[in-house]
Amino acid sequence: MAPQVGLSGTVPAPEPEGRHRPRVVIVGGGFGGLAAAQALDGADLDVLLLDARNHHCFQPLLYQAATAALSAVDIAWPIRHILAGQRNATVLMETVSGVDADHALVSTSAGDFGYDWLVLATGSTHSYFGHDAWEAYAPSLKTIEDALSLRSRVLTAFEQAEAAATAEERKRCLVFAIVGGGATGVELAGALAELARRTLPPDFRRASPDSARILLLEAGPSLLPTFPATLATDAQRRLERMGVEVRTSAKVEDVRENVLVVGGEQVDVGGAILWAAGVRASPAASWIGAAGDRNGRIRVEPDLSLPGRENVFVVGDTASLRDANGREVPGLAAAAKQMGRYAGKTIRARSEGRPAPAAFRYRDYGDLATIGRNSAIVSIGRLRLTGFVGWLFWGAVHIYFLIGLRSRFFVATSWVWSYLTNQRGARLILRRLPPAREEQRPGDAQGEKAPSKSAGGS
Ligand SMILES: Cc1cc2nc3c(=O)[nH]c(=O)nc-3n(C[C@H](O)[C@H](O)[C@H](O)COP(=O)(O)OP(=O)(O)OC[C@H]3O[C@@H](n4cnc5c(N)ncnc54)[C@H](O)[C@@H]3O)c2cc1C
Repeated sequence: MAPQVGLSGTVPAPEPEGRHRPRVVIVGGGFGGLAAAQALDGADLDVLLLDARNHHCFQPLLYQAATAALSAVDIAWPIRHILAGQRNATVLMETVSGVDADHALVSTSAGDFGYDWLVLATGSTHSYFGHDAWEAYAPSLKTIEDALSLRSRVLTAFEQAEAAATAEERKRCLVFAIVGGGATGVELAGALAELARRTLPPDFRRASPDSARILLLEAGPSLLPTFPATLATDAQRRLERMGVEVRTSAKVEDVRENVLVVGGEQVDVGGAILWAAGVRASPAASWIGAAGDRNGRIRVEPDLSLPGRENVFVVGDTASLRDANGREVPGLAAAAKQMGRYAGKTIRARSEGRPAPAAFRYRDYGDLATIGRNSAIVSIGRLRLTGFVGWLFWGAVHIYFLIGLRSRFFVATSWVWSYLTNQRGARLILRRLPPAREEQRPGDAQGEKAPSKSAGGS
């Protein structure tokens, strides 16, 4: 049986002997969870951060890892390293499977962890709108593993086109479809068009990567519904200039292996189908039996606490809130960070007997999306930027928000390098090859290795 690790349990905590400080358990080391942990730096509390992965991922740049512009280490960092300097914080790589709010316990495969305060920051995943079987044929982009797997799929399609026996087969290999015309879909489509039209052509002899057909399908009437209409139109025009076939009001009706059905038409997608539509919250609502909205997000009080549980906070993509300004808090990194910081500050104030901050208010710093080299759209208050100026602004903002000097330096230099040369350095296809078959000889049974045929000098 898994050990029980309660408040008096075995998790190492930097507290003076004989003294038990209240413990804050934070589930999730994404934008919200990390911000909550960092807001508790120096507080007279023990912070225990649990995450299923050992790294924090900068999801806004995942599409660049998926299209070989950046490598995984540029956009992900070990959580324990980020919190290494925070003496009251302990990090454990554990997957949480439930919460017993009556007994203040969080369950993991390593046992239960007791808490005085709990912050749930487990994020969200993609929604296939009730068609979960589509995921196998149209993978989405949420984690580093997803990005590397998508990168391999995309690059493999170009390899297959190069090896194809006929022109028709070659053409079929180079059809890509992206489902969902929000920021992720737009950014993926632009990056894929650049990869096909600018980076790959000189390296191929037969495939003609620049002839790739890239479809961007959006069920709604326009791309980028959260952006002002003028910017969304500008983005669509720029994508079309890059050779992306944009279809709006195009609802996907079925997805099978290398096949999409959209508006009654069957489209043969020999390259890859990428899913960038719909969001569903993590299953945290079911852990605590809380009311979820239609996307599974937990409805929280104005101070981000769970109704009826003052010591449980929910932040980021897992939380649903209309804030003090009456605005629905969006599922964005900036919102998750603000919520995490707010929950950390509230816990700190309450534990120190001080009044908690006023109700949470989301500060909207605007929307940004890049369409490709030289081109991005920016909407901040009344400010609208497009084209090269937008792209410079977009780049500066993303560099600023990366963690650590190393990442900032490498990402900035990668961008400058690929801007000047059209090159993308991370073009590796990662796949496990089948084991090489060797001729069986009698000695094999005793563990002796038979020399291969060629080594044996046949
Ligand atoms: C491809 C993509 C592009 C995006 N682009 C932008 C953008 O340009 N701008 C922007 O503002 N936002 C963007 N977002 C949204 C933004 O990344 C999210 O809003 C933000 O990450 C939410 O933060 P969070 O802390 O709620 O969750 P996350 O950052 O997703 O973190 C959740 C953490 O919880 C952990 N976890 C989950 N379940 C468990 C469990 N059972 N046990 C233990 N740990 C668990 C996960 O491993 C993860 O580390 C993008 C998202 C994606 C997927």
